[in-house]
Order: sequence, then C-alpha cells, then structure tokens
Amino acid sequence: MKIYFASHNLNKVKEIASIAPEGIEIHGLDELGVDQEIPETGETLEENSSIKAEYVFSRFKLPVFSDDSGLEVNALNGAPGVYSARYAGPEKDHDKNMNLLLENLSGKTDRSAQFKTVITFIDHSGSKVQFSGTVEGTITLHKQGSKGFGYDPIFLPDGADRTFAQMTPEEKNARSHRARAFEKLVTHLNTLK
Ligand code: IMP
Repeated sequence: MKIYFASHNLNKVKEIASIAPEGIEIHGLDELGVDQEIPETGETLEENSSIKAEYVFSRFKLPVFSDDSGLEVNALNGAPGVYSARYAGPEKDHDKNMNLLLENLSGKTDRSAQFKTVITFIDHSGSKVQFSGTVEGTITLHKQGSKGFGYDPIFLPDGADRTFAQMTPEEKNARSHRARAFEKLVTHLNTLK
C-alpha cells in the first residue's frame, strides 16, 4: 500500500519510512510536486494535523497522513504545546526555544512534561481518523547531548538515564511519541488490507 506523508521534512519521512512494516510504502510531499508550506493555523495539535492531511487530500484524492507534535509542560499549563516550534519567535530557533523554556521553568519544582504527536489519516474514500502517541518525561536543568532536534537536549524520558539528544535514532524511536502514534496508524492500516 502506498501512502503519502504530508511533510516536507525529509528526516521525518525517512524516520517514519524506517519503521513502516513491509507492504506499506511511505512517500513524501515532494513526490507530488507540492513545494509550499501548508499553513498551520489551528490552535491545537489535532486541528493542525487535520489541516495538513485535508489540504493534500483535497488536491490529490490520495491516501495521506500528517503529523503534528509538541511538548506540553505541566507547570506551564501545557505550553509550549501547539506553539512548540515558534515558542521564542517566528524564526523557529531550537536553541532559543529551549533557553526560553528553561528560563520559564526556573524555580519551579514540577518539571514534568510530555511530547505528544497527533496523526491524521485520510483514506482513498476521504474518511478521516486520528491517533495520538505520547511519551512522558522531565525537563532537565541543562541541555545534554547533540543528536535529534527541537527540545531533545532537555527532555529526559521516564525510565531513561539519558536525554533524547543523547540517544541514537533507534533508541529514540523505540519510545518516541511519533513512533507510538505511527504504530497506531500501522495497526489501523493493517485492518484495511
Ligand atoms: P512537528 O509537528 O513534528 O514539526 O513538531 C513541532 C515542534 O515540536 C518542533 O519544531 C519541535 O520544537 C517540537 N518537537 C516535536 N517533536 C519533537 C521531538 O521528537 N524532539 C524534540 N522536539 C520535538
């Protein structure tokens, strides 16, 4: 089965393709000739995820899924959440975002947080389903590690002794929010075969 991933991020397309089971081929948006960014105007991860999948389906009528992820920090009432990429400004600078988060958490004893991914899948007939995946953890006091992206250097998953940025991609994939949401999508796709 061939499905399209509504993302321009080749790293993400590769990451998802690497955990897709045999028989499920993942193709990125570039293969459809879509080169513009799809506007993320929603106020929740669910809305943004939907907007992207619906945009692609309305143009191509092909099976498509999209993802939208964010970091939710409990002591900050779920912020940065849907605004994770742009937390410290529109330039989407990962380092500035982490610095701002560490600053906003200084002095707080509760440093618990979760990463969440919402995947929206639209099948060839236009019917839509959503799946979410989460991973709980703690925001560290300082950045540690240089792998990964985004908030990885300050996120210590529960039960681990290293941040996401100190793990290999395989170690991160074994527990990440994105991988967990994607597993649910795969289970769903298997029921369609
Ligand atoms: P996206 O929806 O996957 O593009 O994620 C939006 C933003 O959430 C990213 O720009 C990051 O700031 C943050 N984020 C999402 N997933 C991760 C992750 O696996 N590690 C670190 N940061 C992430």
